[in-house]
Amino acid sequence: MFEGIYFSVVVFLFGLMVGSFDNVAIYRIPEGKSLWGPRSFCPRCGTTIAWYDNIPLLSYFLLRRRCRHCGEPISWRYPLVELVSGLLFLAVFAKLGFGWEAELLPYLFMVTVLIIVSAIDLELQIIPNKVMYPAIPVALAAMGIVALVRGDYHIMTDSLIGAAVVAVPWALAAAVFPRGFGMGDAKLAAFTGAILGWRAELVGFFIGVALGAIVGIVLMAAGRKGRKSRIPFGPFLAAGALVALFWGQAVWDFYVGLF
Ligand SMILES: [Zn+2]
Repeated sequence: MFEGIYFSVVVFLFGLMVGSFDNVAIYRIPEGKSLWGPRSFCPRCGTTIAWYDNIPLLSYFLLRRRCRHCGEPISWRYPLVELVSGLLFLAVFAKLGFGWEAELLPYLFMVTVLIIVSAIDLELQIIPNKVMYPAIPVALAAMGIVALVRGDYHIMTDSLIGAAVVAVPWALAAAVFPRGFGMGDAKLAAFTGAILGWRAELVGFFIGVALGAIVGIVLMAAGRKGRKSRIPFGPFLAAGALVALFWGQAVWDFYVGLF
């Protein structure tokens, strides 16, 4: 019991630290800068941020949301990304029964990629190849390792079919109607499908489409977006994939049970 609480705290703190890395990736990848150096600095005054001003979640509030040197406001995106990462890491750990299951690393990897890609897509309406090209083969390889550990090759075929089930039709649609469908979304679907398997990938995709439609209608009704303006779809795919990660099998079983 106490061991479970202890490990939960460690996993949450680990998620916060990875969230801090996510923030670096979200800022640097679209600018084509290196993730590994130099150390983080204030975008306005250029002062390198000391380790004690770079503590996930805490520093934002200790510094009262401003750069220590020039007073430039720090975006709320930083603590939000860190908190979401910490909570999702904890949720993945809880889903796997607080044990060191083979799926732990692939699931944490998926959460991390989805956070980075969603934030970049929200801000810039792109899903960077620099993230997706390495992430897709890593996801397939990770599920290959899970299949080996579990001694169940179905996990690998499920992963391969999952990578294609939404991504291939979507990529074909994007090739024919490039203005309506993004190729980046197809790559994101290949990535989530590789980790989720085809059943949960389908569940996540339909949830993502439904979420996107609801938010699109609400924004149009509120006059925030015109009929033609583009709303990035990546964050909805990501949200659907996360719902599917936690409840996909349950939704699938319920749906199949209806027939
Ligand atoms: Zn500054």
